[in-house]
Amino acid sequence: MFGICNHSQAAKITYLGLYALQHRGQESAGIVTSDGFNVSAHRGLGLVNNVFNERILKSLTGRLAIGHNRYSTMGSSTLANSQPLLVNFFGQGIALSHNGNLINAQELRDELESEGSIFQSTMDTEIIVHLFTKLTKSLDRQSAFLRALKRVKGAYSLLILVNGQLIGVRDPLGFRPLVLGQLGGSWLLASETCAFDLVGARYIREVKPGEMVIIDRKEIKSLRLAPPGRVAQCIFEHIYFARPDSVVFGESVHGVRVKLGRMLAKEKPTEADLVIAVPDSGISAALGYAEASGIPYGIGLTRNHYIGRTFIRPAQSTRDIEVRIKLNPIRESLRGKRVVLVDDSIVRGTTSRKIIGLLREGGAREVHFRISSPPIKYPCFFGIDTPVRRKLIASTHAVEEIREKLGADSLGYLSLKGLLNCVKNSQNYCTACFTGKYPLEVRHQTKYVFETKRKN
Ligand code: AMP
Repeated sequence: MFGICNHSQAAKITYLGLYALQHRGQESAGIVTSDGFNVSAHRGLGLVNNVFNERILKSLTGRLAIGHNRYSTMGSSTLANSQPLLVNFFGQGIALSHNGNLINAQELRDELESEGSIFQSTMDTEIIVHLFTKLTKSLDRQSAFLRALKRVKGAYSLLILVNGQLIGVRDPLGFRPLVLGQLGGSWLLASETCAFDLVGARYIREVKPGEMVIIDRKEIKSLRLAPPGRVAQCIFEHIYFARPDSVVFGESVHGVRVKLGRMLAKEKPTEADLVIAVPDSGISAALGYAEASGIPYGIGLTRNHYIGRTFIRPAQSTRDIEVRIKLNPIRESLRGKRVVLVDDSIVRGTTSRKIIGLLREGGAREVHFRISSPPIKYPCFFGIDTPVRRKLIASTHAVEEIREKLGADSLGYLSLKGLLNCVKNSQNYCTACFTGKYPLEVRHQTKYVFETKRKN
């Protein structure tokens, strides 16, 4: 998500910001702009670069903009489910971008539908808009938003464009990141600081858990949804999701990943000739592992970065084509070597098994697989798209069984204690994907309810 207030090139800057944040979602992209009275919008399925062109960006007029790259955790990948969500309310456009996942969406949606609300999408995000518009009958807009947000539970970092204002909100537990920046006389909000670097903006600070910032042409105001309390930032942002050049939850992502790699080398040492990474997600941790173990770092796999969604597969699909189009072993590096392969996580185990196969084919004599996070045993209900529990290999298999399934010579995961030692204020993190201790109570079907209901 990216937003800017008070800039003559608001749409173009937002486009660039979304470009830097492409890793956070590749299903659809959208921008809504406002000149204070009228709103313009464009959304499409696919990558930022395919959805927008010069002509479309020119048509998005006004000094205020918000944008979104979608990665679905709730609701399918259709145009109706693309964001920012835009509604017309008493002749005025209200736009909303959401990063996260609500866990009481089904109850709220049932309640709203029984009272006559008609939903245009299957996204949990639309619930916030309905709650807000109903509350404006008795409250001013600011209070209506605050009251609406009190009713939703779960993970939400939000950008809202309303009344010529840019509003940014982070849920009280602060699951997902949201940062504030400045570019000349303009204020910016983004999911990660790497977006500020691309547009030449200065990182000012994080939006705090439970904070709402309201920005207009003249000033920036800060309100609280709830008094400061317990915080549950997503540790997986540091492990996998965020870009290494970003500062997330006040710490360099690359810096944390290098520490994870160093800790992993201490906890799970091995004899080997070469440390290599699964590109790109394992690179920083592999560097840390190499540094702490004294085993040289090398490149054993190259990655093709130009795989579009429309990649054409041969009718008779060659073996492991999905992994092969992305990664290729470098025989020159691997031949006859004992290799430490570092990756950030194992989810289903299917990709990892294929990568280990590629390394052996490339001539590696031994493959020692090292993971810079603990075994993922529980699904995420707070904004990371993980499969249901039984599909998480570590929820049904012990480490030795996983090693055997993946075909590695050895397998070592980082411990939870080791992981928490690598971040500041470790008590402020959600680690439920490893422990099953969710910071908010979740009902098991929370993820796919709307779609299931439709199919029935
Ligand atoms: P697998 O071997 O199938 O478990 O895949 C492991 C790979 O998936 C690792 O390289 C991770 O970087 C990557 N990964 C971790 N979490 C996710 C996620 N939520 N969505 C997509 N890929 C992920």
